[in-house]
Amino acid sequence: MTATDLELAYDLALANRILVRHGVLDAFGHVSARAASAPDHFLLSRNKAPALVEPADILLHGADGSAGQGERLYLERFLHAEIYRARPDVMAIVHSHSPAVIPFGIVEVDLEPVIHTAGFLAEGVSRFDTRAEFGETDLLIRNSKMGASLAGSLGASSVALMRGHGSVAVGASVQHATYRAIYTEMNARVLSTALALGSVATLSSAEGLAADVTNSGQIERLWAVWGADVRFAEYYDTLSPVAASEGFPAGMPS
Ligand SMILES: [Zn+2]
Repeated sequence: MTATDLELAYDLALANRILVRHGVLDAFGHVSARAASAPDHFLLSRNKAPALVEPADILLHGADGSAGQGERLYLERFLHAEIYRARPDVMAIVHSHSPAVIPFGIVEVDLEPVIHTAGFLAEGVSRFDTRAEFGETDLLIRNSKMGASLAGSLGASSVALMRGHGSVAVGASVQHATYRAIYTEMNARVLSTALALGSVATLSSAEGLAADVTNSGQIERLWAVWGADVRFAEYYDTLSPVAASEGFPAGMPS
């Protein structure tokens, strides 16, 4: 890996932990980045729970989803491979089973933007259903053909709902895709709450797209606080009661 790929690996490890803390990833799900060293390759962790992913776990995957020798890889790596192949503008992908989003993949209510921070949803949210092309399966994206079908359903959207499974959110950077995954989940939560209360005023396309331009300039600020939050939580977790009684170590890791 080049120095830029190693920086991306660090960002991906952080993104994994940020997405866990926001309830987007749990023991499942993953986040990848297009490799800087080879644009048809991508960076993705070896098969590991997102909360435990370290920069050293990030492996360079080929365009066919292959990586390493004898490595245990994510079963659904093909969705990353095929979205990068179909969408040259996409530089990072989050695949999650985030719980508030899943209902919108199994009902006819559209996941429309209702908060300005999810204005990007005004581009339209795609739907993918494995049954249409593959019949009855375990719903996982287990090969290139299924990955290509999902990429086809995603089209030019930034988010695709996967029936009975989860979703994908894509972006122009690791930070951007992370932002979109977190605010897709938040928008789904707000929309479900609002739908239970009464009729809903959604953002118009013009409002959503205008808000997205504004918010896209703020991602660095969000990333800074999300990263600090993760680092503090991990620092705090290292403190045992014994260590605390002996006095807290000075300073937090940067
Ligand atoms: Zn999945």
